[in-house]
Amino acid sequence: MINLAVFGNPIAHSRSPEIHGLFAQQFGIALNYQKVLVPADGLAQAVAELIRQGARGCNITVPFKSQALALCDEVKGDAIGLGVINTLDFAPNGKVYGYNTDAQGLITDLKDHLEQSIHGRRVLLIGAGGAAQGVVPALLREAPETLHVWNRTPQRAEQLVRLVPSSQLEAKTLEQLDAQYDLIINASAAGLKGSAPDLPSRIIGPGSFCYDLSYSDSETPFLQWASGLGAKHRADGFGMLIEQAAAAFYIWFELSPDTQMVRTEMLS
Ligand code: NAP
Repeated sequence: MINLAVFGNPIAHSRSPEIHGLFAQQFGIALNYQKVLVPADGLAQAVAELIRQGARGCNITVPFKSQALALCDEVKGDAIGLGVINTLDFAPNGKVYGYNTDAQGLITDLKDHLEQSIHGRRVLLIGAGGAAQGVVPALLREAPETLHVWNRTPQRAEQLVRLVPSSQLEAKTLEQLDAQYDLIINASAAGLKGSAPDLPSRIIGPGSFCYDLSYSDSETPFLQWASGLGAKHRADGFGMLIEQAAAAFYIWFELSPDTQMVRTEMLS
């Protein structure tokens, strides 16, 4: 039996155990993937305990992605320079490697499943927490015309923009936001509390594609808000969740699961 876990707070909403269970079934792997509620100061202890149990690795979610950096011996890929980690790999050599698979998950979902190009489009990213930080470099690699970042606490958006210097990337205040963005990505955690970020209605137009990293059985508060303003094209982060999980599964097992099969099974 291979042990894995996801650590977060809150964690009850997480569907990662189900997703990784379905991936493991595809390859006949016996998997025990737990979701674990961790107190605000308890991440290091929870990870150390999992390593003691001989686990293969873990996922890290809200609000621990920055804290997880301190637990890594080495950071790989998109996580380098950003310091937000969503996957830990406990290697046989005793080292802990840190990755961030959120960006791969988002880009694969947007481009391959939702057929949304980022290239040449005016993109607004809402939020500057762990998830937003993790996806900025990948969004910039897709060459949007502009990538604006708005965050409830403006200093965090400014800090994020300083981390990844690019002429396309700008932190904006509410007053500075453009009208009718082509693509609006909500990477705030407001949805976890059942609310939408407080934003001006002019940012949405009928052609705006609205994507919410949060996901739920019914439409998320942000997507409901966008729908009320006439945005016809909307998607939540369930597809991203499956794709980022597939990227983590590859890190642990070097196997690429069939994500479409899992998507169909979980949505049926
Ligand atoms: P985080 O590090 O805790 O950051 C939270 C962010 O949300 C901060 O920018 C915070 O702004 C903002 N925020 C919180 N409540 C808000 C409100 N009421 N109005 C406006 N902004 C608010 O969390 P995270 O790791 O970035 O995760 C953010 C969201 O993305 C969560 O809902 C998470 O579940 C989701 N997510 C989904 C996937 C997926 O695969 N679908 C992957 C990663 C994350 P301040 O700086 O002002 O506090």
